[in-house]
Amino acid sequence: MAKRDYYEVLGVPRSATKDEIKRAYRKLALKYHPDRNPGDKEAEEKFKEISEAYEVLSDDRKREAYDKFGFAGLEGMAGGPGGGASGDFSSVFRDFEDLFGGFGDFGDIFDTFFGGGRRSSRARARNERGADLRYDLEVDFLDAAFGRKVEIAYTRHAECSSCDGTGSADGRGRTVCPVCGGAGRVRRSSGFFSITTDCPQCGGAGYVIERPCRVCGGTGVAQKTQRLKVTIPPGVEDGERLHIPQMGDAGPHGGGPGDLYVVIHVRPHPHFKRRGADVYCAVPVSITKAILGGDVLITGLEGRQIKLRIPPGSQHGRVLRIRGEGLPHRHNPSTRGDLYVELHVKVPEHLSAQERELLRQLDALMGDTDSMKPLPADEIMALR
Ligand SMILES: [Zn+2]
Ligand SMILES: [Zn+2]
Repeated sequence: MAKRDYYEVLGVPRSATKDEIKRAYRKLALKYHPDRNPGDKEAEEKFKEISEAYEVLSDDRKREAYDKFGFAGLEGMAGGPGGGASGDFSSVFRDFEDLFGGFGDFGDIFDTFFGGGRRSSRARARNERGADLRYDLEVDFLDAAFGRKVEIAYTRHAECSSCDGTGSADGRGRTVCPVCGGAGRVRRSSGFFSITTDCPQCGGAGYVIERPCRVCGGTGVAQKTQRLKVTIPPGVEDGERLHIPQMGDAGPHGGGPGDLYVVIHVRPHPHFKRRGADVYCAVPVSITKAILGGDVLITGLEGRQIKLRIPPGSQHGRVLRIRGEGLPHRHNPSTRGDLYVELHVKVPEHLSAQERELLRQLDALMGDTDSMKPLPADEIMALR
């Protein structure tokens, strides 16, 4: 499904100030708030959409990335949109409380609405979402370059197999909490004030289990080893996060699962370095080849021999480009970056008698003198 432009969602121009964005969001949020539209799916979707738009446009860093690259600019960013990570809306919560300071009850609505996204005691609502997990995956340079499927194994909370996730040992499952009647919250009067707190009987869950499952202690979740095939996309960068929805911890008491984030660590290659899709390497060149030029074969990324033409009179450090021999582009893997080859002219340290004689003749022929005048100061390499 195509996503709508964030500015369009909030109905503000691209040049809108932070204040204008805040005002537009406040107006829309009040209109579509789930509390004012109970059971209205469309309003709920609308509210999610405007919240996501506000989350991005109210954050300078995210807004800049979005302005430059659109939705793609937010991919892999901490708390990017659509990630559904439990932390994603935390900034919205903060701002929302700030915006709606007078509406004390909105906090509760948020907790249930976002499935316990906020880690507060109030977030222990009945269907708390499971935690997001992080898996650090080290991959070879070439696997990162050309992509690969890798199987990983990690432990996560999953549905308890002993009680099928019900948390109940006798199969009777949960019964509605007799104290709060299932609300999870109780109202208490204290002087003039009436305050709402978590139900002391069920701890906010809204139900009780008379005989809890002994394996999971009634939570319905248990530790499990999860095996998972992860697709490493071609051209993936070091430090990139792959988002795998719903493979995090299962939420206790039947709450939905969190997500898994696989953080890629690319092992260095002994001969190549990369910058984006471009690859760099250095090759030794003999002094005569550097002077006279000629064709040489160099070993490319995939081990293939690639012909490289060295132009006559090439200086030490000259960089030559071979088009299309770099890595696949991250977001357009059918095209590839370039291979940059740096020439390192090697001066021979051991000469045969014949080589020495020929070089002497050459030296005399080229008319080198023994007096040397310093080069321009910019060319001093030791100070670069
Ligand atoms: Zn209760
Ligand atoms: Zn169990």
